[in-house]
Amino acid sequence: MLAEAISLGSLGLFSAVGLGLAAKFFAVKQDPLVQAIEEALPGANCGGCGFAGCSGAAAAIAKGLAPVNVCVGGGPEVGLAVAAIMGVEPGFKEPEFAKPKCRYGEEDAETKFIYAGIQDCRAAMLLSGGAKVCEIGCLGLGSCVRACPFEAIAIGPDGLPVVDEKKCTGCGTCERICPKHIISVTSASKRILALNQQDDCLAPCQQTCPAQINIPEYISQISQGNYEQAVRVIKEKNPLPLTCGRVCPHPCEAKCRRGTVDEPVNINHLKRFAADYELLSGKAFDTFTLPKNGHKVAIVGGGPGGLSAAFYLARMGYECTIFEAMPKLGGMLRYGIPEYRLPKKTLDWEIQAILDLGVNVEYNKVMGEDFTIDSLKKDGFEAVFLAAGAWGSRLLGVEGEDVQGVLPGTSFLIDRGLEKETPVGQRVVIVGGGNTAIDAARTSWRLGAKEVTVLYRRSRKETPANDIEVEEAEHEGIKFHFLAAPTRLVGENGKLTGIEFIKMELGEPDASGRRRPVPVEGSETVLPVDNVIAAIGQFPDLDFIQKTKDGLEKDVKVTRWKTVEAKDTTMDTSVPGVFAGGDVVSGPQTVVEAIGAGRRAARSIHQYVATQSMEAPANLINAKDIMLVMPENVPPAPRVKMAELNVEQRRLNFEEVDLGLTEDQARAESKRCLTCGRYCYKPNAAA
Ligand SMILES: Cc1cc2nc3c(=O)[nH]c(=O)nc-3n(C[C@H](O)[C@H](O)[C@H](O)COP(=O)(O)OP(=O)(O)OC[C@H]3O[C@@H](n4cnc5c(N)ncnc54)[C@H](O)[C@@H]3O)c2cc1C
Repeated sequence: MLAEAISLGSLGLFSAVGLGLAAKFFAVKQDPLVQAIEEALPGANCGGCGFAGCSGAAAAIAKGLAPVNVCVGGGPEVGLAVAAIMGVEPGFKEPEFAKPKCRYGEEDAETKFIYAGIQDCRAAMLLSGGAKVCEIGCLGLGSCVRACPFEAIAIGPDGLPVVDEKKCTGCGTCERICPKHIISVTSASKRILALNQQDDCLAPCQQTCPAQINIPEYISQISQGNYEQAVRVIKEKNPLPLTCGRVCPHPCEAKCRRGTVDEPVNINHLKRFAADYELLSGKAFDTFTLPKNGHKVAIVGGGPGGLSAAFYLARMGYECTIFEAMPKLGGMLRYGIPEYRLPKKTLDWEIQAILDLGVNVEYNKVMGEDFTIDSLKKDGFEAVFLAAGAWGSRLLGVEGEDVQGVLPGTSFLIDRGLEKETPVGQRVVIVGGGNTAIDAARTSWRLGAKEVTVLYRRSRKETPANDIEVEEAEHEGIKFHFLAAPTRLVGENGKLTGIEFIKMELGEPDASGRRRPVPVEGSETVLPVDNVIAAIGQFPDLDFIQKTKDGLEKDVKVTRWKTVEAKDTTMDTSVPGVFAGGDVVSGPQTVVEAIGAGRRAARSIHQYVATQSMEAPANLINAKDIMLVMPENVPPAPRVKMAELNVEQRRLNFEEVDLGLTEDQARAESKRCLTCGRYCYKPNAAA
């Protein structure tokens, strides 16, 4: 026993001496520079930099083979520390983060968006019943959770990975480890620049939204109580959620599959809830912006289209200047939509958050009078975005229109936006059926008119105004004469006393597909009236477009409908470097469409300035293809309704009518979402 102990001890002593000698002869001295850099790195060995662990990265930095900010795990502070060791400028690296994302294989793209339920495992199950074999989709095994070196991933209640963007460093470990490739690393600008494509996994609401907001994602964030994150998701595609949450006609809700069960999810008011949460927090949430890149872009018009382009361009580092004809920004949000629907204080707060990104504004500057495209280019602007809206107002075109007491609808509302006096008489008739007509009617009622009547030449079903506006106007006692058109204005001593109108009936469909209203001979009636407000339509006022001596356009081309000619997805006009979007291109449309156009233009301007070319992906989505099928076994739950002022409370004032959802209401409503498009599976996988 003793002998064995002695021999083992000798062996140990011999090995120790041997190792000591070997260390002396074969010692590899670590380069102190590499050592210092390695000490500055976080030691997560996540591999996100592309090198084998932090030692590999340190060696590469020391040799000048990798930039000082190569470490994705450590963030900007680590970049600064390494730069100080190397004695160089740190430069800038856009933070990246992981995002769970379902994707189909390319081969399924064509059938994917016929939303008969087959593309979505849950929808398929609801449609056909039975068990499903899902070939693509999260297995829920949590490999990503375990692999994440920063503890940034958890499996959420619906079995999908949820990434905490505050902890995520974008190292990409989860992306590399995910057996199903449904988690990927992305960055703010990649997401800003993205357009909906056929191989994206999209719910019908997101496909339909003109701004392409990831609606299921923000609803899911609301349902989990992550309101700040909900706002961030919305602002990736829409910088004006306070505004849109109040006035958007929400085409997304018309395609909400929940609507085939009971009622669509109250998507727009959920957006308003999230946006109000930010407003009530008192401070706009930090918005990620890239550092200034030295490129200048001019934006003509500070309505929602121009503001949206400015927001996204500023976030990508562009120096933007908005040239605005009016004394304040907002376009028709300020000078059209009345205070009781969109309070100016709320609008100002939302616009200020955009200006705080470093956007410059030149107020009271009219293109065509104070500057031109040529002068902007001479001033160093590399691209111009035209977003001048549709500010021309159509006349009624009937006898007597020049008598005192006849007002164009937009001028009436613009004057209110300018805080001018806008007195009206006791009896007001508004001609038209769009938002301008209804806003003029409800405004006249608030100003004290006793009898307010709207004349519209088509039927109620065809009224272009938001449905809810017509309904609210009716609650306020505004009378409607549908299928009625003015024929003559009657005056005495140059002052309006009456309006003659004729009854209409619906004839054959016209070019718009709607049945043409035809006058019923002999049905003329005269209504006594003090004011007539003409609100039969707006059009872009294209005086700002430079003309040649013979009257042809010198700069951007105009369509035969007298709108600026610009391509649908890239928004570029006939002049290189000049882009256009919003109402000036589409004619009068909606806020959310102008916002979508502004972001698409920002995307193209970024491509154009960076590469002098631009293109949109070939496989863009066509939202018209969506078909909705009634899901089964969905427990009924009524849609929540927000509180509003009662009619008496609204009279003679401009207080906001809609009061917003409570937190409990928002959480309950968010749970009505069927989470379409959040699980993606091969269509043939449905058993
Ligand atoms: C009364 C009314 C109510 C509406 N209600 C709704 C609603 O409830 N929901 C909805 O979605 N949509 C509504 N709309 C439509 C919506 O407001 C517009 O579709 C949207 O504002 C268009 O945005 P835009 O940026 O293209 O143009 P605008 O908002 O019109 O902004 C254009 C900007 O360009 C400026 N400009 C014009 N010419 C020049 C020039 N030569 N030089 C410099 N600047 C110039 C203007 O002053 C303005 O600020 C309503 C419109 C009106 C008129």
